[in-house]
Amino acid sequence: MKISQFSDAAVTSTADIDALLHKARAQYRVNCLETRQLAQAAYTAAEQLNYLAGLAHAEFLIGKAQLILQTAETALPRLRAALKRVKPLALPQLEAEILISLATAQQMQGQFHAAFLLWLDALQSALCAQARECYVEAYLGLGDLHVQCAEPNKALHFLTLAVEWADLCADQDLRCKARLHLAAVLVTLEQYSLAERILMFAQTLLILPLRRDWQAEIYNYLGMIHAAQHDNELALTSFNQALKINAEAGFLWGQTLNLLGLGRLKVSLQDAQGAEADLQQALHYATQFNGLGLLQQIHHQLYQIYEARGDYVHAMMHHIGFHDHYMKLQQQLTASKLSAVDARRLSLIEMKLKLLASELEVTQLKQQRHQESGRMLALESAAYRDALTGVYNRRALEERLPILIQSAQQNQESLWAIMIDFDHFKRVNDHFSHHIGDVVLRNGCAALSKLTRERDMLARYGGEEFVLIVTQVDATMIGKIAERMRRVIEQLPWQEVHAGLEVTISLGGAPWLPGQTCEQLMSRADQALYAAKGAGRNCVRFMGIDDA
Ligand code: GH3
Ligand code: MG
Ligand code: MG
Repeated sequence: MKISQFSDAAVTSTADIDALLHKARAQYRVNCLETRQLAQAAYTAAEQLNYLAGLAHAEFLIGKAQLILQTAETALPRLRAALKRVKPLALPQLEAEILISLATAQQMQGQFHAAFLLWLDALQSALCAQARECYVEAYLGLGDLHVQCAEPNKALHFLTLAVEWADLCADQDLRCKARLHLAAVLVTLEQYSLAERILMFAQTLLILPLRRDWQAEIYNYLGMIHAAQHDNELALTSFNQALKINAEAGFLWGQTLNLLGLGRLKVSLQDAQGAEADLQQALHYATQFNGLGLLQQIHHQLYQIYEARGDYVHAMMHHIGFHDHYMKLQQQLTASKLSAVDARRLSLIEMKLKLLASELEVTQLKQQRHQESGRMLALESAAYRDALTGVYNRRALEERLPILIQSAQQNQESLWAIMIDFDHFKRVNDHFSHHIGDVVLRNGCAALSKLTRERDMLARYGGEEFVLIVTQVDATMIGKIAERMRRVIEQLPWQEVHAGLEVTISLGGAPWLPGQTCEQLMSRADQALYAAKGAGRNCVRFMGIDDA
């Protein structure tokens, strides 16, 4: 890294400082340390030029980096100073961002009421700047705040809004993050299957290896879901996958959470000793970073283990620990109760945002001439994904196909449906197990998804049958696409899944013809598939346009 090239003599203008700040910002997700260093260099340069906006911006980035690298206590003075600097400058977006970091810092310190007020301020500034990313962050903050205050239903409200707004942003990372938070609260509310679907979708948005801590978080939630559904083997695997990532990366909080999950699971599996070891380790970690909520839960579990064992001395100790942290949490919660004025302010901001959201949807509808954007966005949501394979489900197909057909009709563009069916799939299940069958579907779909363009659609039609909808290609091209899919599946390294495993698919395609309904289109693709099966499988057949 070359800060020197920007520092002292080299920085001659405010544009240089802006460039430096831009670079500092871009580094934030990748290397926070560098963000801090670059921002510090920008700060020095801005001081020399008395560049006020640069100073506010740099101070904010330093504080934001400190929040990650050091503690909330260190970051707070910097962030407060940044806020003071930005106020007279009328830069609402920067102000919103500073408020978001400030609120996060206060929340980390357990000052819930102060954090709540800052989230409101952040929303208000974001509204001024019409900065969507900031709405998402603020809603995420409000959601997490209510999670911490043990109000999961209110949290659900804010986190749903966060996901909705995130979907109106281009930022894939943010869309993933919002879903993770939403899934977490759904787990709390015991909405397991919905949570699982959302996690599966979040996984497709995950930017790796950058976000391996989020991957660990996903595994942890899956562990909780499986445990709640008494799927103990899967739960154990998931928690251990999460723990492995967190241990490798040295994430203390993550490890604590995983160990707590493992401890609980082992209690229910009657493995008191294993549970005790995991929970003691969790306790050790949680004490290091003073995680109140976690400490309370760990003490509670340990108390129960010792009591069941008749070790009343230890049981008592942990009961006191539990009670102690419970009281501390309660104090924080009482301090955070909303006043009527706060609640009114929140509802006013929310109303404005709701209006804004519907206006936005209307403009987007106008912009994207043929797509029903609202429905398109809804399609992205987890309810439209198949849990096993992550591709769209039947419901998504049924809702989206008519829209695609209508669009093809209006624009006189081509549209093709291809039915894809795994060959002799019963045999795969019978010879290798249903589990291997599932793996085949999952890996097969992952490979097919990679060959599917964004505007096209791959959906699970049922069982081992899938449908691919392709638009705007001619007959030669669609033939090539289908053939490539066939070959890719045939050539996947199935031997690595199980010795002796071979997998092929048959494909049957048909063009949509003007005036045809979805059902007619699908039925003709199905006829083509039947022809492919009849021709010996592992091949592609198309219904000709003249067979209509
Ligand atoms: P063909 O080549 O004619 O398509 O033969 P096939 O055995 O694939 O056809 P059939 O439609 O008779 O059987 C499909 C099998 O796929 C039956 C069903 O148990 C299995 N299957 C459907 N869904 C799943 C699933 O989610 N997981 C697994 N492992 N198997 C599934
Ligand atoms: Mg089959
Ligand atoms: Mg079949």
